[in-house]
Amino acid sequence: MNINRFSTENLAPTEWHTDDQIKEIDMQLYFPSCYSHLAPVVNDISTLTNDVSKVGDGRLDAEGLKTLAGLFDKAANLTDGDTAKGLRLRSDAIRNGYSTKIIEELNLLNDALSFVGGNISSWYGKHVGGFATCFATCTNVELTQTCDSVLWCKDMLHDYIAGINSRLSMLEIPKYVACDLVFMSGEGASHPKHIAYFLPEDEGFKCSPIKKTHYFSNVHCAQINKISAELLSEFSKHDYYGIDIVTLGALGVLGHEYGHFITLPETNFRIVSQNDRWSSIMYQEIAADVFGFLILAEVWGPMKGFPLEQSCTYYLGELLRYANRGFGRFPDSDGMLFQLNYLLHFSALEISKDYTKIRITDPELVVAAMRSLARCIIESLLKNDIKLLRDFELNFGVKSGLTEQLSPFLAQLGKKGVPSLSYQTQGI
Ligand SMILES: [Zn+2]
Repeated sequence: MNINRFSTENLAPTEWHTDDQIKEIDMQLYFPSCYSHLAPVVNDISTLTNDVSKVGDGRLDAEGLKTLAGLFDKAANLTDGDTAKGLRLRSDAIRNGYSTKIIEELNLLNDALSFVGGNISSWYGKHVGGFATCFATCTNVELTQTCDSVLWCKDMLHDYIAGINSRLSMLEIPKYVACDLVFMSGEGASHPKHIAYFLPEDEGFKCSPIKKTHYFSNVHCAQINKISAELLSEFSKHDYYGIDIVTLGALGVLGHEYGHFITLPETNFRIVSQNDRWSSIMYQEIAADVFGFLILAEVWGPMKGFPLEQSCTYYLGELLRYANRGFGRFPDSDGMLFQLNYLLHFSALEISKDYTKIRITDPELVVAAMRSLARCIIESLLKNDIKLLRDFELNFGVKSGLTEQLSPFLAQLGKKGVPSLSYQTQGI
C-alpha cells in the first residue's frame, strides 16, 4: 500500500503509518552486563507487555498489572540498593496506584537501573489513553549535569524571555533527567519511537506535585544520526560534522520542554482545545519548538560554546525529520510543516529551483523569523484568540497555499518510506 503521506485530502488524524510504509532502521540497546542475571525476569516482562499490546485494546487488565507488579518484585529481589527500592515502589504503584509518598520516595532515589511499566501514555493522535509498555533506563549522569548547569542561570533566561514580551512568564518545569534506554517492550517499542516520557503523568497520575522528564539521549541521538543526518545529506548541504550532537540534542529537547511552560497570565489552552483539540496540540508544539529554538540559539548555545550555525543545523535536521512523517498523523509534524512554511515565506530557508534541496539562507534570519513567529504565537495561542489561530493556519498550515507551493519538494521526501528505529537489545 502506498499512501501519499503529504496529501491534504481526507486527513483523519487517528492512526500512525502502517508497518509496510515504515522503513525500519536497527538501533542497539545495551542492557548492562552487571544486571544480566535479570534476563529471565526481563524476558517475562517483555513477553507479557508485547503480547498484550498486540491483542484487544492493548491495555494490561487488572490481572496483567498484577503479573507485571509481581515481576517487578521478582526483579527487586535480584537487585539491591536504590534499584531494588525503585522496583518495589513502582510495583506498589502498579498494584495500588501512585500516592504522593511513593512519588516523593522515588524522587529521592539514585537508582543505577530504573524500570517503568504499566499502561503508559502514547502520542496524541496515535491512540487515546495508555498502553502496555515497560522500559528500563540508566541515568547519564554527566549529561544530566550539563543540563542542570544551564538552569543555574535562570535570571538570564527570564531576562531573555521578558525581552520577547515583558508579560511572559515561565512556569516551573519538571526535573529533567538525561538517560540511556536499555530495554523497551510493548507499545513503546512500536512506531514512532518516544524520546521522552513525562512521569508520573504518562503513567496515568496527572496531578503529581513532583514531575520528572526522562529524556532518552541514546534514542534521540540515533534518530538524529540515522534519520535526520540522512535527510540533511540528501536534501541539503548542511551536516553535523564537528557538532556535539549529544549535548545539543539534550539541550534542544530541554529548550522545547521550557517552551511548553512559557505563558501569559490569561493563557488557557483549554479554550483553544475545546474549539479544536488537534489544532491546539499542534500550536502548543509550535510554541514549544519556537521558544525552545530561541532559548537554545540565543541563550544556552552561546553559554555552552555552540555557534548559531550549529543550533540552526540541529533545528533544520529536526524539522526535516518531523515534517517527513507526513500530514495529519502527528501534531508535532503538522507543527513543523507550519514552521517550515513560515521560515520559507520569510526567506530564512530557501528551496532550490528544482525542489531537491533546502538551505539556511542566513542563521541570523532564522532567529529573526523565529522571533517573529514567537510574537504570532503570543498574540494568538497565548491570548486564546481562536480566530487568529485559524487565520495563521490558513496561511501557514498543512492546507495552506504555501504547502501547495512546497508540494514538489514534499514529493521528493515522499518517495521513500517513513524511517523509524527498531530496537535490538543486547545483554538479555
Ligand atoms: Zn512538546
